[in-house]
Amino acid sequence: MFTCRNQPCSASWEQSEAVIKNEGQGLLFRCPMCGARNYVDRIEAEDGSVVYEQLDGRPFL
Ligand SMILES: [Zn+2]
Repeated sequence: MFTCRNQPCSASWEQSEAVIKNEGQGLLFRCPMCGARNYVDRIEAEDGSVVYEQLDGRPFL
């Protein structure tokens, strides 16, 4: 579950709802509601599955 870092928005999203891409400054998804950038980290498990963890403390605009 992701939570939009844009405080007035603060919407929650399932990973399947967030489109994760790299815009040149690292992986992020744009909040489908407000468009704010939310940075994530890509974590690959030993079984090859990939999960994304939201990063704290990154600017969202
Ligand atoms: Zn948002």
